Amino acid sequence: MFGRPLPGVVGETRRVVHVFEVPTGDTVPERLTAFCGTSFGHGELEHLDRIQGMPCVSCLRRTPTPDPELPTGRQEPDERP
Ligand SMILES: [Zn+2]
Repeated sequence: MFGRPLPGVVGETRRVVHVFEVPTGDTVPERLTAFCGTSFGHGELEHLDRIQGMPCVSCLRRTPTPDPELPTGRQEPDERP
């Protein structure tokens, strides 16, 4: 899932779209932490169904599904125990 800080939470230049792991279970966690490590509380995020505008590059690099547009290194699936 994607989320962008609401206006006023961070500066306009930092209002990038972060990527979040979809919370499991029925309860919504108090804070959502993006892949880049930035965490947001309730009322600080605008939820998006897809990336709109400037994405957070740090989040994209840590997203499990590699973006073909980004020069990422080889990602070996970690299947061995
Ligand atoms: Zn991010």
